[in-house]
Amino acid sequence: MGFPDFLAEGLALASHRRNQWKSPGSIEEMQGEKLQTLAAHAFTRVPFYKNRFQGSGISGMRSLEDLRSLPITAKDDVRRHADAMICSGLSKDSLYRFSTTGTTGSPTVHYMDHSDAIRGAALRQFTFMECGFAPGDILANLAFSRMPRFPMQPLLYRVKSIHPAEDLEKSYRALKAAAPSIVFAYPSVLAIMADMNLRSTFPLHFSKAVSVSEMLQPGARKIIQESFGCSIRNYYGSSECWAMAWECENGSLHINSDSVILEAVDSAGLPVKDGEVGDLLITLLWKYSMPFLRYQIGDRGRLGSHCPCGRGLQVLKSLEGRTTDYITLPSGKRFPWMFTETPFGQTDGIISYQVVQETRGSLNMKLIVAPGAPPGIRGVVKSRLLSYLPEKMDMQVEIVDSIQRSGRGKARDFISKIKPPN
Ligand SMILES: [Zn+2]
Repeated sequence: MGFPDFLAEGLALASHRRNQWKSPGSIEEMQGEKLQTLAAHAFTRVPFYKNRFQGSGISGMRSLEDLRSLPITAKDDVRRHADAMICSGLSKDSLYRFSTTGTTGSPTVHYMDHSDAIRGAALRQFTFMECGFAPGDILANLAFSRMPRFPMQPLLYRVKSIHPAEDLEKSYRALKAAAPSIVFAYPSVLAIMADMNLRSTFPLHFSKAVSVSEMLQPGARKIIQESFGCSIRNYYGSSECWAMAWECENGSLHINSDSVILEAVDSAGLPVKDGEVGDLLITLLWKYSMPFLRYQIGDRGRLGSHCPCGRGLQVLKSLEGRTTDYITLPSGKRFPWMFTETPFGQTDGIISYQVVQETRGSLNMKLIVAPGAPPGIRGVVKSRLLSYLPEKMDMQVEIVDSIQRSGRGKARDFISKIKPPN
């Protein structure tokens, strides 16, 4: 990467920094212009979307209304038609390849060229900075298996990667040795380390933390802040989008609306009202080599109104978990896991949890609790969760020190071992 990349990233970064303060109307206008260019490109250069556009009778689009006439792009479309989704004239061998973690069982592979990667890098750089990254920081990375390198990165901060291994005591010692000023981590990992830190003779302190990939539970937020003396911000990204939304100083999750159109839709693909939970669709306004239009990311969430901080970027009111996570009830009916998450937010003293369903009639929960958690917390959590279910189920709750993680160190809050019906 040379000077032109550095300059391109710097200019794009500066424009994201300016755009966030524009009015919601100006940002919407900008989205319309970018959408028009992207759709014209997809229509002429990308066989998959050319077919979709022709099949839907679409000749162009300028607004969210126009975009809604396009069918949803599912993950399965990407698995089946990846080649037809790549811009014609580009060879896969010349592109960067990315894969989702596949925590839902089926990883998805996608590609991008160098220009897209620079634009994506600038967007991610901007998002990191809004989450608190500042020049001169020493960043401890406990989340990504490796931190993607951006042209500007070496000038901004040093990265020390620590793999969140099964042995979290060892990772905690490595974190201390790194002496970071900012930590990028799965909240479930950092919350456990926060507990170790409270019991340490020489506790570690740093000023900033960024929570990625998992839901940041109120209990985890509290113990991380208290133990390390840091602030913590949520970062919402994905392999496909890189940087989608981030938490501002007011606690709102702002969507990078100058670069992404985020929609929330019901099971028929129709828009839900602001504040209602829907499946999230993304349209990436910066990605041309393999465009994503109305791509179903696999998360559910609620869109909200604008935030008093003054930024015009749209707000993601809440993120509600994977769309594919369902509890199977004794009758065989499926019940969305996300509807059960409320009781965890209402219960003090929870650092982390994982619920595993092996049979229809029962759930097994592993629970990591904070020091001084109320006695009887197991019973409280159990009765609150069960009260949310429409059918009677058994539930075992076990207090543990650690929770099963994937190879990349990420913990899932719900795992069903029941085969879904076809
Ligand atoms: Zn805000």
